[in-house]
Amino acid sequence: MEVSIEHSAKLLHEANHIVLTAHIHPDGDALGSLLALYAYLVTQGKTVTMLLDDDVPRSFKFLSAWEKIEKPENVLPDVDLLVVLDASDLERIGRVKEVVKAPILNIDHHISNLKFAEYWYIDSQVAATGELIFRLLKAATATITSSMATALFVAIATDCGFFRYANTSAETLKIASELVTLGAKPHIISEYLDTKPRAVIEVLPKVLETLEIIDCGQDRQIASLTLCQKILTDFKDDTEGFINYPRNIEGVEIAIMFKEIDNCSVRVSFRSKTVDVSQLALAFGGGGHARAAGCTVTKPLAKAKQLVIAAAKQQLANSF
Ligand code: 5GP
Ligand code: MN
Ligand code: MN
Repeated sequence: MEVSIEHSAKLLHEANHIVLTAHIHPDGDALGSLLALYAYLVTQGKTVTMLLDDDVPRSFKFLSAWEKIEKPENVLPDVDLLVVLDASDLERIGRVKEVVKAPILNIDHHISNLKFAEYWYIDSQVAATGELIFRLLKAATATITSSMATALFVAIATDCGFFRYANTSAETLKIASELVTLGAKPHIISEYLDTKPRAVIEVLPKVLETLEIIDCGQDRQIASLTLCQKILTDFKDDTEGFINYPRNIEGVEIAIMFKEIDNCSVRVSFRSKTVDVSQLALAFGGGGHARAAGCTVTKPLAKAKQLVIAAAKQQLANSF
């Protein structure tokens, strides 16, 4: 059932033991939203458990309370509400769905959301789930501390490419401005997010060697990067920005990054300038936004590439 932000706040208010989770391969929006909401609920005297079926990437380990995030292992009894953040389908929370049996409140902004929860608050107009958590905190007249403001700033800024992508609205900037007033420090946050181990920079020539550009006529191209297991050994976490290289090439409409997880599964990221890549990702069981989406293809790398590139060509041809 669709709920308002006030109803979402009421559901949280009425629950005692709340489990918070977000999508696997967590990004800034997933983690920032999770940690900001956690901080608020703790001040409300709730018993709150954060579960994530994945590791917290190195670059987000400056956010308060990240170390309180647990992995789903044993079944958690007596949970009143499971809050699923920034995830558009149940598969995206991994094993959390097996260890928590409770009604779900899904707060999300993906256009591809499957409305799988008992309660959902979805607004695909906003740049990030962080904007929705900000709205929720306002509706609950919560006090937003500087560490909550930092978490929400990370959530919002990372999902809109630091206010450069098409999803950046006047409201996004207004909220960001308020978060800075409340203590978020953009330059310090950027420093944490941009600083990488030396090995990540040193591997770039190898990564760029895998660049492939496919001409699709009318000066429109698809560009891809391929990270095989061998390249990935030391920095699985730190591939976040790589897709911007193909994305930023003149004439490229769709950028794709293939990340070989093992011999029969490949993570695929899509970025686009005009084409709706969420449709493309959905066709492979994934999802996302019009201009940033992803999926996992359970095929060997070469086969996955072949299938995905053929579908991307088709999507581009359809958009002429
Ligand atoms: P990224 O390429 O940064 O991993 O993901 C881009 C966007 O697509 C994000 O909003 C992310 O949540 C969404 N996304 C990525 N992979 C998947 C997936 O496997 N399933 C779904 N539903 N969404 C995905
Ligand atoms: Mn996300
Ligand atoms: Mn998001």
